[in-house]
Amino acid sequence: MKHPRGRYRLLSAFLFVTLTANFLMAQKVREGSVPEGQQMVPTGKGDAITVAAEPADANAVGQAVVTGNGINYHGGPVMKGTVPIFIIWYGNWNGTGSNTANTRSVIEHYVATLGNSAPMLIDSTYGDNTGNVSGNVSFGGSIIVSSSTNLTDTSLRSTVGNAIAGGKLPNNPNGLYFVLSSSNINETSGFCTQYCGFHTHATLSGSDIKYAFVGNVDRCQSGCEIQTTGPNSAAVGQGGIDGMANVMFHEASEAISDPDLNAWFDTSGQENGDKCNFNFGATSNCNSNGLCTSAGTSTKARFNQTFGSHDYMLQQNWENKNGGACVLHL
Ligand SMILES: [Zn+2]
Repeated sequence: MKHPRGRYRLLSAFLFVTLTANFLMAQKVREGSVPEGQQMVPTGKGDAITVAAEPADANAVGQAVVTGNGINYHGGPVMKGTVPIFIIWYGNWNGTGSNTANTRSVIEHYVATLGNSAPMLIDSTYGDNTGNVSGNVSFGGSIIVSSSTNLTDTSLRSTVGNAIAGGKLPNNPNGLYFVLSSSNINETSGFCTQYCGFHTHATLSGSDIKYAFVGNVDRCQSGCEIQTTGPNSAAVGQGGIDGMANVMFHEASEAISDPDLNAWFDTSGQENGDKCNFNFGATSNCNSNGLCTSAGTSTKARFNQTFGSHDYMLQQNWENKNGGACVLHL
């Protein structure tokens, strides 16, 4: 996982690695999921960095900061209030497979109903010195950026920056911007080989903008999907909707509890989502009496959350209470 900038005393031998690879937090691909013949960096971008130990919870003061639950507070802000989520659909989202208008519709409905859902409320156990995360999010709007060009970390940032500077999306430092790429698009810093998504932040149009990359994980089903047909799949073998919903939950949970990469993470640099990566807890199977699509029903796809009249398969999240644990709900 990426380690936030400037928090650790670094061995000089690792300084170059650190300078080039420490400004975002990534969701690793599934362990044991790399096809034969491919090589995966085992622990994600930046994990090779050797860090010195730091005092635990040196800044843990104030009523909203509760520690001692396996994840540490480092003094930075969390995202409080209702967090609007904006989506930039990048690539070709009027294409084939799961790169479709249906996927856009289901994902936007998912975001619109994610606020105050059982999984999202787990984030309300995190706070800073002025208050706690609410657990509420909203759908703030979306745009389509049609392109056939792969993304880099630099062009990802400019894609977000251009949307804001051009007035296509609001300039909101209290919001979270997702760039969702179609499955023909690569993010060349390691999508599908090192991570399934990541979040970070940058100063754009004068604001501290929090943003995340999530690719259509049908690009690498073995690395970034728990099942190739999910409860919301439009067709058997098209798991992109549910796979992306899962990665988005991971990144949203982390961005809200650690937006500037200086708030909540453990001694290994793992944020709350990382601590439960691809850990789904108890699951149910789609059946003909449920909310799943016909494709999901036909394969008895697994799910573990229901809200907004849909079933979802979302990883658990780390609760910052009761000693800490991966949970499906508080
Ligand atoms: Zn993560």
